[in-house]
Amino acid sequence: MTLDTVINLGYIVASILFIFGLKMLSRQQTARRGNALSASAMLLAIICTLATRGLTYEWIIAGMIIGAVVGASAAIAVKMTSMPEMVALFNGSGGLASLIVGWLEYHVQPDRPMSTIIAVYFTVLIGSITVTGSLIAYAKLSERISGKPFLFLGQRVVNALILASLLGLGIFFIAQPQGPYAYEVLLLIAGLSLLLGIMAVIPIGGADMPVVISLLNSYSGLAGAAAGFVVLNNVLIVAGSLVGASGIILTAIMCKAMNRSLTNVLFSGFGAPRSGTTREVEGEVKPISSEDAYIALEAARSVVFVPGYGMAVSQAQHVVRELGDLLEQNGAEVHYAIHPVAGRMPGHMNVLLAEADVAYEQLVEMDAMNPLMPTVDVAIVIGANDVVNPAAREDDSSPIYGMPIINVDQARTVFVLKRSMASGFAGIENPLFYKENVRMLFGDAKASIQAIVAEFKSAVS
Ligand code: NDP
Repeated sequence: MTLDTVINLGYIVASILFIFGLKMLSRQQTARRGNALSASAMLLAIICTLATRGLTYEWIIAGMIIGAVVGASAAIAVKMTSMPEMVALFNGSGGLASLIVGWLEYHVQPDRPMSTIIAVYFTVLIGSITVTGSLIAYAKLSERISGKPFLFLGQRVVNALILASLLGLGIFFIAQPQGPYAYEVLLLIAGLSLLLGIMAVIPIGGADMPVVISLLNSYSGLAGAAAGFVVLNNVLIVAGSLVGASGIILTAIMCKAMNRSLTNVLFSGFGAPRSGTTREVEGEVKPISSEDAYIALEAARSVVFVPGYGMAVSQAQHVVRELGDLLEQNGAEVHYAIHPVAGRMPGHMNVLLAEADVAYEQLVEMDAMNPLMPTVDVAIVIGANDVVNPAAREDDSSPIYGMPIINVDQARTVFVLKRSMASGFAGIENPLFYKENVRMLFGDAKASIQAIVAEFKSAVS
């Protein structure tokens, strides 16, 4: 058996492990093992690639050391609440790596078959869009720039012109990759694609960022697959395609969660104020103490926790579970209602609650929870805001009108745990806080729940 055969067999095994690893990620019970399996598949792919003849190991080892140090220290240092920004940066790095591969391969050897030249074009195009798109997503998520949609007159025309130029330049480049100006044209393609990445993400509004993140994730995979065609590496093609396809599936799930089509997300500037006046919020804010919250909870027979980004900020998941256990011991039925875009990354709340060992059976998806909401005695909103904003249902002038929410306002009593009257990620007011059946428990979510837990414990002892 030749070395090339062994390497390709290794690639096939790695690809199969990637597919099984991905499948295992779809269930909470198998997710950790799936992650480990995918990581070992990546190790195998790296070993097989390193076994390829003719490599210059000094540069590769230097690159691996730098990459490992940067990656590991970033992963250790990052706070759980900053994970979404980090994911955005990782997507951008994937795009950048593909862009560099496509660029250099053409630069070093422009006399390639047409199929490789087409792959170079797509690698540079998608890689560049991913780089700047991810940087803008990072800036919006970390609030370095405003999360609101940035719109200007003629934006769609400008984007269409950039896209048309990219297609025209692409045809020119592919037709004569060694002709005069081919190198300059590729440079222009990279420049315009970098611009398109910015233009494509700036008009997207705050509440739509989940869709953008999953889409950029998919782009980074597609750029990787295109780079695989450039360097003719099978495992890169397979791994890139898997990331591309799963990113697209996640994008579709996120669009469904927002009740919108992908074209609507990409081109409508959702989150921008609509024409017409937003309804005046009616009612008054009714603060409550943890002692009063305890009295209501002690009598409750059915309780639903609705976590949001604030739970991640206050790291309240462990005390939330402790309170859930106490309520169950007290005879209440306890559920955790999960909105698909709660937090700042897909599955954010599931990850936090799993970390606190909340039983998977107690997690209920939004669509299953909403019909039961009128039968719930107390809904406890823990640092959630946009995902429980009834304006999405009631106010057709609201920027988030039409977005499905968890209908906590239909529960008999609602406790909202947050520090102030500040708005959520979408930056809009929430009429929930003024409703008759709603009480505001102001303060850090973890401290507020700890206080209620203390009340329960002192009542028992
Ligand atoms: P929101 O961002 O709407 O609201 C979070 C709330 O948490 C804030 O109003 C804040 O109020 C409160 N909060 C912050 N810190 C604390 C604390 N220590 N204790 C108690 N409360 C706290 O969160 P949601 O989860 O409701 O909605 C998610 C939003 O993020 C949606 O708009 C979604 O589209 C967007 N998004 C989601 C992504 C995803 O993939 N899931 C990715 C990117 C964006 P206060 O300051 O008064 O305490």
